[in-house]
Amino acid sequence: MAESVRVICRCRPLNQREIALNSKICVEMDSSIGQIALHGDGPEKLFSFDGVYYMDSTAEQIYNDIIYPLVENVIEGYNGTVFAYGQTGSGKTYSMQGDEKIPVQKGIIPRTFEHIFEAISTTENTKFLVHASYLEIYNEEVRDLLGQNRDQKLEVKEHSERGIYVAGLTMHVCHSFRDCERLMQTGFDNRHVGATLMNKDSSRSHSIFTIYVEALSEAGNIRMGKLNLVDLAGSERQAKTGAVGDRFKEATKINLSLSALGNVISALVDGKAKHIPYRDSKLTRLLQDSLGGNTKTVMIACISPSDNNHDESLSTLRYANRAK
Ligand code: ADP
Ligand code: MG
Repeated sequence: MAESVRVICRCRPLNQREIALNSKICVEMDSSIGQIALHGDGPEKLFSFDGVYYMDSTAEQIYNDIIYPLVENVIEGYNGTVFAYGQTGSGKTYSMQGDEKIPVQKGIIPRTFEHIFEAISTTENTKFLVHASYLEIYNEEVRDLLGQNRDQKLEVKEHSERGIYVAGLTMHVCHSFRDCERLMQTGFDNRHVGATLMNKDSSRSHSIFTIYVEALSEAGNIRMGKLNLVDLAGSERQAKTGAVGDRFKEATKINLSLSALGNVISALVDGKAKHIPYRDSKLTRLLQDSLGGNTKTVMIACISPSDNNHDESLSTLRYANRAK
């Protein structure tokens, strides 16, 4: 089981604000052994992961090292999930969507599109059908980022054969890399516009871009793999953000999904747990068939290198550490 969940840590460069504040760097990494040292008051804290990626790392490296095999698995008909976890501003969206102006920093999501369509074009004797959907979970409410009515709350349902699904979620056929990319951009824009219109903060929502790869062999066998690309809500604790009222309620629900996810993953990694608490949150319920079993999961723990984010980085590293 341990094999099926892999955890890496990525540390972004200092940003302008941190430089202006004269922040010190409190993160050191030894990529040869996958180790990270976090410096603060008292002794340094050491963590090791399946990979550590320092400030100058690229999405290309991360993809080749750790995401590539997961996507191969999906093309072969298994499910897989990639999560980006970390405080707001730590590089989750940068890792998932990337910076299209810098080719090596093109994100994991567009790289999976390229990979899937490349594999399709080079596989003989098999017909493929690719669909995509894009949803967000805000305050334990699910909404379609690609549907007509983006205010509509969708229900998570269970079907004896289909398994868990979201009733009314739109599915979009993709014939090419470009089709997928357009959907990614549309959903991303809707996430931000929707958040602004409803006076919500998009960093408080989880988004899940799902690619469904169906393959029909000449012999008539159908297999279906599903890949979930998840940009999680910011993991910062509300103590620091000083949330009250609705914002506080919201924050506790966000933490509920994140802590439920942590519990599910650590139960899976542990391997001995009889009960996996999928039902504790919308996020874990939706991902139930893509976590554990034959599926592969990668968690990217994103952190800032700056000493003024030390405590949040420590909490991210502890969270990620439970998933190993
Ligand atoms: P999050 O999605 O976790 O809130 P973002 O991905 O939006 O954070 O990143 C915050 C800012 O930091 C963005 O301006 C982004 O371009 C920049 N950034 C994040 N990671 C990197 C990186 N590895 N290299 C360069 N810039 C980065
Ligand atoms: Mg983001």
